[in-house]
Amino acid sequence: MRILWIGYGQAGGKLANTLMGMKQRSYRGIAVNTENADLAGLKKVNDSVVIGKYKQKGRGVGADLDLGAEIAQKSLSLMMDRIDLLRRILDPEAFWIVSGLAGGTGAGGAHILADELRTIFHLPVYGMGVLPSTSGMPPEKEVLNLSNSLTSFERWRQYFDNILLIDNQQYERRDDTRESMQEMYERINTDIAKRLTLILTAGEAKHPPQEVLATPEIKATLGSQGDISTIGYRGEDIRLRTRFWKKGIEPDERRLEEIIEGSISKESLTFPCDINGSSAAALVPYGRPKHLFTQAITAGKAYLEQKLGVAAVRYGDYPDTRSGELAAITLISGIPDLARLDQMRKRIRELS
Ligand code: GDP
Repeated sequence: MRILWIGYGQAGGKLANTLMGMKQRSYRGIAVNTENADLAGLKKVNDSVVIGKYKQKGRGVGADLDLGAEIAQKSLSLMMDRIDLLRRILDPEAFWIVSGLAGGTGAGGAHILADELRTIFHLPVYGMGVLPSTSGMPPEKEVLNLSNSLTSFERWRQYFDNILLIDNQQYERRDDTRESMQEMYERINTDIAKRLTLILTAGEAKHPPQEVLATPEIKATLGSQGDISTIGYRGEDIRLRTRFWKKGIEPDERRLEEIIEGSISKESLTFPCDINGSSAAALVPYGRPKHLFTQAITAGKAYLEQKLGVAAVRYGDYPDTRSGELAAITLISGIPDLARLDQMRKRIRELS
């Protein structure tokens, strides 16, 4: 699926850059920021643009949502001109604006750009919102991060066709204190880029799939009503004769079924929630062609349908003759359970 990624703010820029690192012909990417310095390391996006120079002189907006919004409004034509240059080259099937929800630039401005893109181009505009990990933060900073996230999420909701939620907290490793914050972000960004790319490019796999997950099916899964989505992923390394010293599974039907089932468990999701009652889903089993057992996929798909309460889960396999793993990626849309956000509200009350 041809996507024009727009990384808005620091987190968004880094994520768009990582997505561009997946080297897909169907991707183009641009980074937008109020802060010059945040754009410097983003070598893989096709273009980058500093906004709000008139006001902040390239020094960012702190975590001020309203300032982020004001700058977005005043910089619309600048952003649209640069985005349009890439749009003409790629002819995208959708725009996808990627941003942190807890900061100021992206959280405050992304929905304003989304509104304009939807009005001008009549293409779906999807959002990706990153929720913060606040462990170990001083209380004041934690309150600011959480309240910004809740406010920007509410503002965003009316302007996107769909919002994919990523919760950084899902990736915390409580047992590993050696990992720095930057390393954790990189791990998250790589994981998200991989999940999304496997879903969005499954239909374009070199080795022909048995069943193709085509663009209209992805679009139908995401919908256009501002639904909230999450992506589940479960993968196991396979045992390879060429790497006999490394551990790995010997795939069989049951293993693949377990992997598919595992892809929707709470800890496998980018945003933790009860997925029962969701409105749509798409499943991509990924691995070597000989391991993509049709019967296991059918059984796994039936399991998902029952757990989600969805009449038909869309699916397409992604065969890769060189894959070192067997995996399942499930995009779940229209999730009804936003209890995690209520938890954030409760935490703000506790700290205030
Ligand atoms: P902005 O530049 O004002 O839009 O704000 P930021 O993007 O810097 O920050 C928003 C939030 O995103 C931060 O509070 C972090 O929780 C998170 N964040 C920052 N960088 C990354 C990143 O590279 N990856 C992920 N997953 N989250 C990040």
